[in-house]
Order: sequence, then structure tokens, then C-alpha cells
Amino acid sequence: MIQSRRLSRIPVYLFSQIAELKRQLRQEGVDIIDLGIGDPDRPTPRHIIEALKEAVEDPQTHRYDESGFGDLELRRAFCEWFEKRFGVRLDPERNIQVLIGSKEGLAHLIWTYVEPGDVVLVPDPAYPVYRNNTLLAGGEPYYMPLLKENKFLPDLSAIPEKVAKKAKLLFLNYPNNPTAAVADLDFFREVVEFAHKYEILVAHDAAYSEVTFDGYVAPSLLQVEGAFDVVVEFHTLSKTFNMTGWRLGFAVGNEQAIKDLSKLKSHVDSSVFLAIQRAGIAAYCGPWEPVKETMEAYRRRRDVLVEGLQRLGCPVEKPKGTFYVWIPVPEGETSESFSEKLLRKAGVLTIPGTGYGKHGEGFVRASLTLLDPNPEARLQEAVERMERAGVRW
Ligand code: PMP
Repeated sequence: MIQSRRLSRIPVYLFSQIAELKRQLRQEGVDIIDLGIGDPDRPTPRHIIEALKEAVEDPQTHRYDESGFGDLELRRAFCEWFEKRFGVRLDPERNIQVLIGSKEGLAHLIWTYVEPGDVVLVPDPAYPVYRNNTLLAGGEPYYMPLLKENKFLPDLSAIPEKVAKKAKLLFLNYPNNPTAAVADLDFFREVVEFAHKYEILVAHDAAYSEVTFDGYVAPSLLQVEGAFDVVVEFHTLSKTFNMTGWRLGFAVGNEQAIKDLSKLKSHVDSSVFLAIQRAGIAAYCGPWEPVKETMEAYRRRRDVLVEGLQRLGCPVEKPKGTFYVWIPVPEGETSESFSEKLLRKAGVLTIPGTGYGKHGEGFVRASLTLLDPNPEARLQEAVERMERAGVRW
């Protein structure tokens, strides 16, 4: 059997490779502190689980979702929350599409618009889905470096005019995976102006919009005037409500883009289990205390890890958003060599920054989500193991 040329253009999914390495080391008896994949370890809030149980008992939810855009009540609930949260009005009939998680929607947006040879502006480093679906669709990623000196924001003025004119889509993601950087409305205004000027559709991945700390509140790109002409924003229940396995998210924004995405989806999937969509209504209608508690738990973990690293001399600051820490590697190390050292000598699994693109060189990513009865103590142990292994900056 021969893979399509399309598929052979892309590597095995990053986390599939890492899962294999983990299996091997565990077989050798290594006790791994796994700061690899970002996958919330706390349970989904109780009221959402109860809503699912009730919905699953209703045979109406056992059938195909024929709505096209997703359950209307769910779309209404999300739009109401969105208006309260961002002060932006979405029309539940025109500006929103329910997704099987945001990964699905991000990938399908590319398949909706990208023709062979089309340019797609992709941050580097970034969540690999933007780049790899662009390649699958025959498009040409143009990488926008996310550099520490630019606060991990792309420099739009550095994109050659010729490239900008050819670009069809621009991907952004704030709060950002993997750098944990945040963006403000001034930067978002620049983005919307750029997108208008070059007639580019902006896909903003807002997966971590609610994963923020120390009073920081992340803006939506749709808050910018004129954004509805050029923006689709992706939201998900995965991180906000600890629901990665449930698969539920939204694309919101430009009406035509939502319609086009919906058309594509109608040919490749048959929506999300309606009982899960109903449970999603319970999520957005509150209570929100469990979300606050989860963010407070991540904040404590962040403090343990970052303060521990700082004690070892690491020049890293406490991020305002996401559950990642983007750790600069000590002098003389590369992302790969340092990540391997942490794993082999300290049993601490991190992801080499280069897994997210070549400009991830010089960093490793540590996730604050970890399956352990006492995550804070485990993170403390990770720092102690590094110290014992002689890791210094
Ligand atoms: N975007 C980013 C930046 C992510 O980190 C992730 C998950 N790791 C996703 C999207 C996908 O989230 P989901 O498909 O679960 O909604």
C-alpha cells in the first residue's frame, strides 16, 4: 500500500512519536514525570456530567444532528456567554458552527479554502495542525517567527508584500501554545488592518482564552472593529472545562466563512453526539466556580515550576496564560539535547521546542497538566531531580 503523496509530505503526529518513547522508557522501569502533552487532568465539572447523563437518557439525542450548524440551543448558550465575556454580539443563526473539537475545525477551515500552491501564514513555533493541514491540502506555509524579542508575536511588517498578496489564510493563537505568550488588542488591531489590506482570512485559535492567571483577561480578536469581515475564531470546551475527550468546540465570526466551513463539514462528518452538545449548554450556563478553581490550581503549579526553575538560574518568567511553561535551554544545549537530558537524567519529559517549528529552537515546553494525586509535589520533585542531575542555567 502506498500513502498518498499528500500524506507523505507530513511527519507522524508529534505526540504519537512521544507516546512511543514513553512506552519504551516505562518498560525499562523509568518513573517518568510527564510534562509532555497538555491534557487537563482535573475532572469535568459535576453539573456538566449530570447534564450529559440526563441527555443520554433522551432517545432524541441518539439520532443524527440534522441542524447543520449544531444544536441551536447550544449555539445560543455560547453566543450569550460570548457577549457577556467579550462584549461582542454573535448571531446564533449566522456566526457560529459547532465543531468536533477545535482541532477538527482548524483542519477543515484549511480544506475549505486552500488550493494547491496557496500561501498560508503560519506562526513558528505553533500547534502543528495549521502547518500540517496546509501541507496536506497542497498549500505552502510561510512561517512567521515568534521570537522572544518580539514577545512571541509575529512581525507582520516583515512579511514580504509579494507573500502577503498571495496569502489566503493567517493563523494566530493567543494565549499561545507553545510559548505561553499573550496578545493585546493593539496587536489584534494591527492584524485586522493587515487582513483587510491583503484580503486574508484570519483564523484565530482561542483555545486557551479562559486559561489565564493573575487577573489577566484575554481579548477576542472579534472585539476589533471590522474583524467580522476577515476573522474566524476557534473556541473549545477542552481546556476551559477539562473536556478534551468529549470533543466539542466552535468556529465563530465571518458569516461566509462559517457557511463555507459548514458546507465542507456536511460532506465529511455528521456533527457531535447531541447529548454532548446538550451538556455543552450546561457548561456555558454556569456555574463557573469549577473553572476558577481549575485555573487557580494551574496557577499554583505554575508558581512551583517557575520559581523552582528560577532557583536553578533559569531566566524564565511566570506566564499569564495557558498551562505551559516555555523554558529557555541552558547555554551549550539545543532543544533536543536538553529535552533528552531531562528525560534520561531526571526522568522529566518535556517537548523540544523544535517539535513546534524551527524557531522553537532554544526552548523546551513543559505542561502543567499531569496525572498525579499531587501535581504540585510532583512538579517540585521534577525541579529537585533536575537539580540532582546537575541542571543549571
Ligand atoms: N489549539 C491549540 C493551540 C491546542 O493546543 C489544542 C490542543 N492541544 C487545540 C487547538 C485542540 O483542542 P481541541 O481539538 O481539543 O478543541
